[in-house]
Amino acid sequence: MHVQKKGIAILGSTGSIGTQALEVIESNPNYFDLQVLTAGSNVSLLIEQAKKYKPNTVVIANEEKYLELRNALEDFDIHVYAGSDALSQVVESKEVHVVLTALVGYAGLIPTIKAIESRKTIALANKETLVVAGELIKKLARKYQSNIYPVDSEHSAIFQCLMGEYKNPIEKIYLTASGGPFRGYSLEQLKTVTLKQALKHPNWSMGAKITIDSASMMNKGLEIIEAKWLFDLKEDQIDVIVHPQSIIHSIVQFEDGSMKAQMGLPDMKLPIQFALTYPDRLPSTFPRFNFLDYPQLNFEKPDVEVFTSLSLAREAMLMEGTAACSLNAANEIAVEAFLNEKISFLDILEVNEKVLKQINNQTSPSLTDYIDADKEARNFAKKLCGIN
Ligand code: NAD
Ligand code: MG
Repeated sequence: MHVQKKGIAILGSTGSIGTQALEVIESNPNYFDLQVLTAGSNVSLLIEQAKKYKPNTVVIANEEKYLELRNALEDFDIHVYAGSDALSQVVESKEVHVVLTALVGYAGLIPTIKAIESRKTIALANKETLVVAGELIKKLARKYQSNIYPVDSEHSAIFQCLMGEYKNPIEKIYLTASGGPFRGYSLEQLKTVTLKQALKHPNWSMGAKITIDSASMMNKGLEIIEAKWLFDLKEDQIDVIVHPQSIIHSIVQFEDGSMKAQMGLPDMKLPIQFALTYPDRLPSTFPRFNFLDYPQLNFEKPDVEVFTSLSLAREAMLMEGTAACSLNAANEIAVEAFLNEKISFLDILEVNEKVLKQINNQTSPSLTDYIDADKEARNFAKKLCGIN
């Protein structure tokens, strides 16, 4: 029997999710056909990946790196483009079936919209897209009959627990959270934490932005909003439980009280692979979980007094409109400022709160409203961070 291979485009192939996705694809050469690789600025790794995996097309978002990329791939039969418009255009190719959105931040929004409009399947790692414009993305996905499969481990867990349950309403879900490097810290202790400490996540190795978001628990805040849109949930149906070992990836509770959890070692390759192969499960050699290595699994209430990101994200979600878009923009600026050691760790939370309190919330937003809200919140956040 001839089975057509799945044509894959990876947006953000040089990042943490992108490189792990390439390992998954490399292990299953009869299943996947790698079509497109893209990166923001990391041209040297993109060149290396292009030479190794020989995709049909590569794109570098940073146009200044175009010549370097083109020259390096001169002797290869690979199309080379640059710029963010090209990034959006390459997902339209008819050879591409699944678009893995593994780029970070608001930059994921427009390419994801283009992929949906081209009726591609979306393997969504870029949670910011749903945080920023969940309402619009859902509308477009329905209109263009494009399926969105989550890569985020918690959402993949929920998605897996819901298989075969589509007629059974969800009572609530529990998103698990490791608690990050500052679990158990007081506000006083958070005042003096350093960049180096914040970048040290206990269980996961990830890109810098999501690592800081995990330390501030804004990542979990963003994931609450992501879950609302993926699974059509109300705010009070989404609970967060701190689970330091990151073995249970999340839990669904049904109306009869039954709870289903998905578990395994913390390894993003599993949710990446499942989003690319759904509904199939491909055999893998990923390390297996051993109960005796984890004689205890612990659960704690998140400290919402200290980690105000959780309530801030809930507030933005309840405000609807462009509120979460503004919060996300503020957070991207604040995290970047913290990474550049321009502001302190707690300043991130303060900038986010000030921006959310100040902005004009636009209800029933169009794409232009999201773009404007993002710009406005970024400008305000930059002022607060002392950046021009
Ligand atoms: P990363 O920083 O490691 O990689 C980001 C990728 O995006 C890189 O390839 C980079 O070149 C590209 N990129 C950055 N800015 C760009 C721009 N303006 N235009 C085009 N490309 C750009 O990030 P990551 O940790 O791989 O995370 C990617 C996404 O996946 C994020 O939205 C994150 O929240 C989500 N996610 C990551 C993990 C993880 O384990 N890393 C887990 C769950 C969800
Ligand atoms: Mg997650």
